[in-house]
Amino acid sequence: MKILCDIHVHSENSFDGESSVREICASAVEKGLSLIAITDHMEAPEIKNGDKSPYGNMMKQIAKSVSDVDAVAPEFEGKLEVLRGMELGEPMHEPKLTKKALEIADFDFILASVHNLKGEQDFYDLEYTEEGYGELLKRYFDELLDTAENAEFDSLAHLTYPLRYIVERLGIKPDLTPYRDTIDDIFRALIKREKALEMNTSGLFSPIGTTLPDIDLIRRFRELGGKYVTVGSDAHQSSRVAQGVERGIELIRTCGFEHYTVFEKRRPRMVEIWY
Ligand SMILES: [Zn+2]
Ligand SMILES: [Zn+2]
Repeated sequence: MKILCDIHVHSENSFDGESSVREICASAVEKGLSLIAITDHMEAPEIKNGDKSPYGNMMKQIAKSVSDVDAVAPEFEGKLEVLRGMELGEPMHEPKLTKKALEIADFDFILASVHNLKGEQDFYDLEYTEEGYGELLKRYFDELLDTAENAEFDSLAHLTYPLRYIVERLGIKPDLTPYRDTIDDIFRALIKREKALEMNTSGLFSPIGTTLPDIDLIRRFRELGGKYVTVGSDAHQSSRVAQGVERGIELIRTCGFEHYTVFEKRRPRMVEIWY
Protein backbone atom coordinates (compact mmCIF):
# COMPACT_ATOMS: atom_id res chain seq x y z
CA MET A 1 0.00 0.00 0.00
CA LYS A 2 1.23 3.47 -0.85
CA ILE A 3 1.21 5.76 2.15
CA LEU A 4 1.54 9.34 0.93
CA CYS A 5 2.28 12.32 3.18
CA ASP A 6 3.09 15.90 2.25
CA ILE A 7 4.72 17.91 5.01
CA HIS A 8 5.58 21.17 3.26
CA VAL A 9 2.45 23.11 2.30
CA HIS A 10 1.52 26.82 2.49
CA SER A 11 -1.94 28.16 3.23
CA GLU A 12 -3.35 31.67 2.79
CA ASN A 13 -1.57 32.47 6.06
CA SER A 14 1.64 32.75 4.02
CA PHE A 15 2.13 35.99 2.08
CA ASP A 16 2.43 33.98 -1.13
CA GLY A 17 -0.16 31.29 -0.33
CA GLU A 18 -3.63 31.22 -1.85
CA SER A 19 -5.82 28.55 -0.26
CA SER A 20 -7.50 28.04 3.07
CA VAL A 21 -6.42 25.18 5.32
CA ARG A 22 -9.82 23.55 4.70
CA GLU A 23 -9.38 23.69 0.89
CA ILE A 24 -5.89 22.25 1.24
CA CYS A 25 -7.12 19.37 3.37
CA ALA A 26 -9.99 18.59 1.00
CA SER A 27 -7.50 18.48 -1.88
CA ALA A 28 -5.16 16.27 0.16
CA VAL A 29 -7.95 13.73 0.77
CA GLU A 30 -8.86 13.77 -2.92
CA LYS A 31 -5.25 12.99 -3.77
CA GLY A 32 -5.07 10.09 -1.34
CA LEU A 33 -2.75 11.63 1.27
CA SER A 34 -2.85 10.22 4.81
CA LEU A 35 -1.06 13.11 6.47
CA ILE A 36 -0.31 16.74 5.81
CA ALA A 37 1.63 19.43 7.68
CA ILE A 38 0.76 23.07 7.10
CA THR A 39 4.09 24.91 7.09
CA ASP A 40 3.40 28.60 6.66
CA HIS A 41 6.22 31.09 6.28
CA MET A 42 7.86 32.54 9.35
CA GLU A 43 10.70 34.78 8.17
CA ALA A 44 11.98 35.21 11.70
CA PRO A 45 13.99 38.45 11.18
CA GLU A 46 10.78 40.08 9.89
CA ILE A 47 9.09 39.81 13.28
CA LYS A 48 10.67 43.12 14.24
CA ASN A 49 8.85 44.89 11.39
CA GLY A 50 5.42 43.85 12.69
CA ASP A 51 2.59 44.95 10.40
CA LYS A 52 5.09 46.84 8.20
CA SER A 53 6.82 43.69 6.99
CA PRO A 54 6.35 43.08 3.25
CA TYR A 55 5.57 39.50 4.26
CA GLY A 56 2.77 40.59 6.60
CA ASN A 57 2.72 40.32 10.36
CA MET A 58 4.61 37.09 10.91
CA MET A 59 3.56 36.49 14.51
CA LYS A 60 -0.14 36.95 13.69
CA GLN A 61 0.02 34.85 10.54
CA ILE A 62 1.59 31.87 12.26
CA ALA A 63 -0.81 32.08 15.20
CA LYS A 64 -3.65 32.08 12.65
CA SER A 65 -2.10 29.18 10.74
CA VAL A 66 -2.00 27.09 13.92
CA SER A 67 -5.54 28.02 14.94
CA ASP A 68 -6.82 27.16 11.44
CA VAL A 69 -5.13 23.75 11.67
CA ASP A 70 -6.67 23.15 15.09
CA ALA A 71 -10.11 24.17 13.84
CA VAL A 72 -10.02 22.10 10.66
CA ALA A 73 -8.19 18.95 11.83
CA PRO A 74 -11.23 17.42 13.65
CA GLU A 75 -13.31 17.67 10.45
CA PHE A 76 -10.87 15.32 8.73
CA GLU A 77 -10.44 12.85 11.56
CA GLY A 78 -10.12 9.30 10.30
CA LYS A 79 -9.36 10.52 6.77
CA LEU A 80 -6.34 12.78 7.09
CA GLU A 81 -3.94 13.74 9.86
CA VAL A 82 -3.43 17.50 9.84
CA LEU A 83 -0.35 18.73 11.65
CA ARG A 84 0.94 22.06 12.90
CA GLY A 85 4.09 23.03 11.04
CA MET A 86 6.09 26.14 10.28
CA GLU A 87 8.72 27.02 7.67
CA LEU A 88 11.23 28.96 9.70
CA GLY A 89 13.28 31.27 7.46
CA GLU A 90 16.79 32.43 8.39
CA PRO A 91 16.74 31.06 11.94
CA MET A 92 20.37 32.12 12.50
CA HIS A 93 19.99 35.78 11.53
CA GLU A 94 18.25 36.93 14.69
CA PRO A 95 18.24 34.15 17.29
CA LYS A 96 16.05 36.02 19.77
CA LEU A 97 13.30 36.50 17.21
CA THR A 98 13.63 32.87 16.14
CA LYS A 99 13.09 31.83 19.73
CA LYS A 100 9.96 33.96 19.85
CA ALA A 101 8.68 32.30 16.69
CA LEU A 102 9.22 28.81 18.08
CA GLU A 103 7.25 29.74 21.19
CA ILE A 104 4.07 30.63 19.29
CA ALA A 105 2.71 27.09 19.68
CA ASP A 106 3.61 23.46 20.28
CA PHE A 107 4.44 22.59 16.73
CA ASP A 108 4.58 19.13 15.19
CA PHE A 109 7.18 19.99 12.61
CA ILE A 110 9.69 22.76 11.91
CA LEU A 111 11.38 23.23 8.55
CA ALA A 112 14.46 25.46 8.46
CA SER A 113 15.15 27.49 5.34
CA VAL A 114 17.59 30.03 4.03
CA HIS A 115 15.71 32.17 1.50
CA ASN A 116 18.09 35.08 1.71
CA LEU A 117 21.64 35.67 2.84
CA LYS A 118 22.41 38.10 5.63
CA GLY A 119 21.96 41.60 4.23
CA GLU A 120 20.58 40.37 0.89
CA GLN A 121 17.13 39.99 -0.64
CA ASP A 122 15.43 36.66 -1.27
CA PHE A 123 17.23 34.57 -3.92
CA TYR A 124 14.07 34.99 -5.97
CA ASP A 125 14.69 38.77 -6.13
CA LEU A 126 18.44 38.73 -6.86
CA GLU A 127 20.09 39.49 -10.17
CA TYR A 128 22.34 36.67 -11.38
CA THR A 129 25.46 36.92 -13.51
CA GLU A 130 27.82 34.21 -14.73
CA GLU A 131 30.68 35.81 -12.78
CA GLY A 132 28.69 36.39 -9.61
CA TYR A 133 26.66 33.30 -8.84
CA GLY A 134 29.60 31.27 -7.51
CA GLU A 135 30.15 33.66 -4.63
CA LEU A 136 26.42 33.65 -3.81
CA LEU A 137 26.43 29.86 -3.72
CA LYS A 138 29.45 29.79 -1.45
CA ARG A 139 27.75 32.14 1.01
CA TYR A 140 24.54 30.13 0.74
CA PHE A 141 26.16 26.82 1.67
CA ASP A 142 28.13 28.49 4.48
CA GLU A 143 24.93 29.90 5.97
CA LEU A 144 23.22 26.55 5.62
CA LEU A 145 26.07 24.88 7.47
CA ASP A 146 25.66 27.34 10.33
CA THR A 147 21.91 26.57 10.28
CA ALA A 148 22.45 22.79 10.23
CA GLU A 149 24.93 23.01 13.10
CA ASN A 150 23.14 25.48 15.33
CA ALA A 151 19.47 26.14 14.60
CA GLU A 152 16.47 24.52 16.21
CA PHE A 153 14.39 22.64 13.61
CA ASP A 154 13.45 19.15 12.39
CA SER A 155 14.20 19.12 8.67
CA LEU A 156 16.41 21.28 6.45
CA ALA A 157 14.29 22.62 3.60
CA HIS A 158 15.08 22.71 -0.12
CA LEU A 159 18.90 22.47 -0.02
CA THR A 160 20.17 24.02 -3.30
CA TYR A 161 17.28 26.53 -3.39
CA PRO A 162 19.30 29.18 -5.37
CA LEU A 163 19.98 26.67 -8.17
CA ARG A 164 16.35 26.90 -9.12
CA TYR A 165 16.78 30.59 -10.00
CA ILE A 166 20.26 30.28 -11.48
CA VAL A 167 19.03 27.59 -13.90
CA GLU A 168 15.88 29.58 -14.66
CA ARG A 169 17.57 32.95 -15.27
CA LEU A 170 20.99 32.04 -16.66
CA GLY A 171 20.23 28.68 -18.24
CA ILE A 172 23.32 27.29 -16.47
CA LYS A 173 23.32 24.31 -14.14
CA PRO A 174 26.15 25.13 -11.72
CA ASP A 175 28.77 22.52 -10.95
CA LEU A 176 28.63 21.91 -7.20
CA THR A 177 32.17 20.50 -6.93
CA PRO A 178 33.57 23.59 -5.13
CA TYR A 179 30.93 23.21 -2.41
CA ARG A 180 31.09 19.43 -1.91
CA ASP A 181 33.03 19.63 1.34
CA THR A 182 30.63 22.16 2.83
CA ILE A 183 27.66 20.07 1.71
CA ASP A 184 29.23 17.00 3.35
CA ASP A 185 29.66 19.05 6.54
CA ILE A 186 25.98 20.07 6.36
CA PHE A 187 25.00 16.40 6.06
CA ARG A 188 27.29 15.39 8.93
CA ALA A 189 25.76 18.08 11.14
CA LEU A 190 22.23 16.89 10.32
CA ILE A 191 23.20 13.29 11.02
CA LYS A 192 24.94 14.07 14.28
CA ARG A 193 22.01 16.14 15.52
CA GLU A 194 19.44 13.57 14.24
CA LYS A 195 17.81 16.09 11.93
CA ALA A 196 16.17 15.32 8.62
CA LEU A 197 16.97 16.43 5.09
CA GLU A 198 14.00 17.55 3.02
CA MET A 199 13.40 16.41 -0.54
CA ASN A 200 11.39 19.29 -2.01
CA THR A 201 9.48 18.17 -5.10
CA SER A 202 8.65 21.66 -6.44
CA GLY A 203 11.78 21.63 -8.61
CA LEU A 204 10.35 18.78 -10.67
CA PHE A 205 7.88 21.31 -12.09
CA SER A 206 10.30 24.18 -12.73
CA PRO A 207 13.08 24.52 -15.36
CA ILE A 208 15.64 22.78 -13.12
CA GLY A 209 13.54 19.61 -13.47
CA THR A 210 14.95 17.86 -10.39
CA THR A 211 14.00 17.66 -6.74
CA LEU A 212 15.75 20.08 -4.34
CA PRO A 213 18.23 18.67 -3.53
CA ASP A 214 18.59 16.16 -6.37
CA ILE A 215 18.99 12.43 -5.85
CA ASP A 216 22.79 12.51 -6.10
CA LEU A 217 22.84 14.60 -2.93
CA ILE A 218 20.17 12.49 -1.21
CA ARG A 219 22.28 9.43 -2.00
CA ARG A 220 25.35 11.16 -0.55
CA PHE A 221 23.39 11.96 2.63
CA ARG A 222 22.63 8.24 2.99
CA GLU A 223 26.25 7.27 2.28
CA LEU A 224 27.36 9.45 5.19
CA GLY A 225 24.82 7.80 7.50
CA GLY A 226 21.66 9.89 7.01
CA LYS A 227 18.46 8.26 8.25
CA TYR A 228 15.68 10.82 7.98
CA VAL A 229 14.37 12.26 4.72
CA THR A 230 11.11 14.25 4.64
CA VAL A 231 9.11 14.96 1.49
CA GLY A 232 7.20 18.11 0.63
CA SER A 233 5.52 19.61 -2.42
CA ASP A 234 5.94 23.21 -1.19
CA ALA A 235 2.46 23.82 -2.62
CA HIS A 236 1.15 27.38 -2.39
CA GLN A 237 -2.26 26.48 -3.88
CA SER A 238 -4.59 23.63 -2.93
CA SER A 239 -4.48 22.24 -6.48
CA ARG A 240 -0.74 21.65 -6.08
CA VAL A 241 -0.89 19.74 -2.82
CA ALA A 242 0.93 16.39 -3.14
CA GLN A 243 2.41 17.39 -6.51
CA GLY A 244 5.46 15.23 -7.14
CA VAL A 245 5.25 13.56 -3.73
CA GLU A 246 4.66 10.01 -4.97
CA ARG A 247 7.50 10.35 -7.49
CA GLY A 248 9.72 11.91 -4.81
CA ILE A 249 9.17 9.02 -2.43
CA GLU A 250 10.02 6.56 -5.20
CA LEU A 251 13.22 8.51 -5.87
CA ILE A 252 14.12 8.31 -2.17
CA ARG A 253 13.79 4.54 -2.47
CA THR A 254 16.23 4.52 -5.40
CA CYS A 255 18.76 6.17 -3.07
CA GLY A 256 18.60 3.11 -0.81
CA PHE A 257 16.10 4.26 1.82
CA GLU A 258 13.31 1.89 2.82
CA HIS A 259 11.46 4.60 4.74
CA TYR A 260 10.79 8.29 4.55
CA THR A 261 10.04 10.37 7.60
CA VAL A 262 7.25 12.53 8.96
CA PHE A 263 7.28 14.43 12.23
CA GLU A 264 4.64 14.57 14.91
CA LYS A 265 5.18 16.59 18.07
CA ARG A 266 8.71 17.19 16.81
CA ARG A 267 9.50 13.46 16.81
CA PRO A 268 10.38 11.45 13.70
CA ARG A 269 8.04 8.72 12.53
CA MET A 270 9.18 6.35 9.80
CA VAL A 271 6.85 5.58 6.90
CA GLU A 272 7.57 2.50 4.85
CA ILE A 273 8.13 2.98 1.12
CA TRP A 274 6.34 0.58 -1.23
CA TYR A 275 8.14 -1.22 -4.05
ZN1 LIG B 1 11.10 27.88 1.30
ZN1 LIG C 1 7.89 26.62 1.46
